[in-house]
Amino acid sequence: MTTILAKKAFLRTGWANDVRLRMSDGLIESVETGCNVGSDDDFVASVVIPGIANAHSHAFQRALAGHAEQRGPAGRDTFWSWREQMYRLAGSIDAHGLAAIARQAFSEMLSVGYTSVAEFHYLHGKPNGGRGRCAMFQAIAQAAADTGIRLTYVPVLYERAGFDRPGPAAQQLRFSMSPNEFVDHYECARETADKNITVGIGAHSLRAVSESSLRRLADVSRRDECPMHMHIAEQPAEVEQCLARYNARPVEWLLGELSPTDHWCLVHATHITVEELASLSQCGAVVCLCPSTEANLGDGLFPLRPWLDQGGRIAIGSDSQITINPYEELRWLEYGQRLSGRSRNVVAGPDEHSGQVLFEQAVKGGGLACGHGAGQLRAGMPADLVTLDGESAMFAGHDAETMLDALVFVGARLPIDRVMVGGEWRVIDGVHVANSETSRGFAEVVRTLWPASAA
Ligand SMILES: [Zn+2]
Repeated sequence: MTTILAKKAFLRTGWANDVRLRMSDGLIESVETGCNVGSDDDFVASVVIPGIANAHSHAFQRALAGHAEQRGPAGRDTFWSWREQMYRLAGSIDAHGLAAIARQAFSEMLSVGYTSVAEFHYLHGKPNGGRGRCAMFQAIAQAAADTGIRLTYVPVLYERAGFDRPGPAAQQLRFSMSPNEFVDHYECARETADKNITVGIGAHSLRAVSESSLRRLADVSRRDECPMHMHIAEQPAEVEQCLARYNARPVEWLLGELSPTDHWCLVHATHITVEELASLSQCGAVVCLCPSTEANLGDGLFPLRPWLDQGGRIAIGSDSQITINPYEELRWLEYGQRLSGRSRNVVAGPDEHSGQVLFEQAVKGGGLACGHGAGQLRAGMPADLVTLDGESAMFAGHDAETMLDALVFVGARLPIDRVMVGGEWRVIDGVHVANSETSRGFAEVVRTLWPASAA
């Protein structure tokens, strides 16, 4: 049994003072407010908030961050030229390397207050072309266990190079599986995964998965009530190809053909019309936005205000790992809308606070997208939480009403003291408990991937 006595805690009903949280067996057992007398067993915290779920991650891309910022020799750099660099990296990562890179990514996530991650995993094969899907899955699962992050494993089907190309391109061979092999892998992951892992199912995109396979995956998701994740409408070229092949835009086609449910998490949905937004919001699907990656790759801006006006749900993801910081994602989610619309406090309704609205949306939508619902400080929920230093200059002069605004919009350094997942402290004094070991292992691997950095 662990107990925390928090001077302030952000509960489902908002901020509360003098809160005692009791944890046992990885869950929050009870939450009491107005507890102004401490006991020797209490861990005293000034501020406690829920952890945020990172609803879209490709852990291996942590090794690419910062290596794709040099402009190519000719033409215009785009998402598609970045993708070639990503393929070159993916081609040389084995299971040992993946575990080391994922450990680094996951420990960085924990240290900034992500307590869970949905790993959208398509790096299934070995670098030499051999089958390695179990080894690659186990590398991700091991990295999650070593760092303590709560994992939603989303194995992803990647079948083909494009709408009119039935097979994968040479660089995509490591990602590809037949639909039968893929469903076997999904079943195997469900049977062998540790009880702390949620297993979802994913399709890479409409361009990379055939219509019949997509229907099969949607049926599996419906049958098992597991999260179903897919990239959609990230780039205008994908929309044009979809229009040419299916005579409908990606979201329009999906809504008409597959009836997505509230188990679905659609990643990006950048190029979406107001009509598509209205229909999509009706089915309860979560849209996962990855603002730093979308900015880095030049994707475009999601029409956030119309989506929220329709009651749409959002989650956030670190995606390419160019930035691992949920508060920076939330800040840029709002800033993108401010810049494009030349207005302020776009996400907030009348008299609401932007930082608090963004935080609440990300916590709730992230828990839904990850399939575990974690992220609320209430009895029966997983004990996943973050303690903040209430004496930090970031909070000077702020009261409960504006603390989350400060956390999202102010300062370069997050005042995170500790992070707990499943009742265990994973970050203490702002540092992940296995930080130096993890960064050593990561450095050894990336030096082999980027030999110039060994100098
Ligand atoms: Zn992605």
